Amino acid sequence: MAAGRDTPPKALVLFDIDGTLVRRAGPHHREALVEAVRRVSGLESTTDGIPVQGMLDGDILRLMMRAAGVPAPRIRAAMPAVMAAAQEIYHGACPDLRRRVCPGVRTLLSRTLRAGIPIGLVTGNLSRIGWRKLECAGIKDYFLFGAFAEQASSRAALVRIALRQAWQNGWANRRTLISLVGDHPNDILAARRNKIRSIAVATGLSSRDELAGHRPDLLLEDLRALTPAMLRGEGLPGNSGRK
Ligand SMILES: [Mg+2]
Repeated sequence: MAAGRDTPPKALVLFDIDGTLVRRAGPHHREALVEAVRRVSGLESTTDGIPVQGMLDGDILRLMMRAAGVPAPRIRAAMPAVMAAAQEIYHGACPDLRRRVCPGVRTLLSRTLRAGIPIGLVTGNLSRIGWRKLECAGIKDYFLFGAFAEQASSRAALVRIALRQAWQNGWANRRTLISLVGDHPNDILAARRNKIRSIAVATGLSSRDELAGHRPDLLLEDLRALTPAMLRGEGLPGNSGRK
């Protein structure tokens, strides 16, 4: 996908993973975080009471360790080892997720790729967890690049990292219509911070009404309703380019 500087794609699309591409993926991700804290610090911790949807894995781990009584400096010192352990554990534990792919995802990814629109990830998952999840779901090969939990401390900053990668590789320029597809208000907010288009999809835990309250540029029941033409902004009023 080495589009030259003169011919950048008309559109670029970035996807969140959980609740957007894959849902009901089982307890393995949470369990990997808990087991990683145990392995590195010897502490029992839990994700109970943490609103993990829409959060970055690093923030979830920090809250888990804080709730277990670990002081902030020790959390910071342990974090790289805990993140590495979580990824290692999930890699070995990830189940077959092919039946957990959200409605319309496979068709959309395949048509989008054929339409020459580059596809990337912006996810709160740690990188090896995110890639492994997509591998177990059978959809990894559609994705060209991504921004992951360990690379920044907010979702908006992850979008910025993904955009920089896209610009540097010729996958987007100022005229490219860039969309972020996600199932959580945090995805909508991160898109708005970066002045790209937000496409909200009601396949996660956030209700359609909750998503609508954050005024995404497009709100869909599921991804069966999305087409490459829509990603190019065709047939949609007020979507002629970057806002
Ligand atoms: Mg999500």
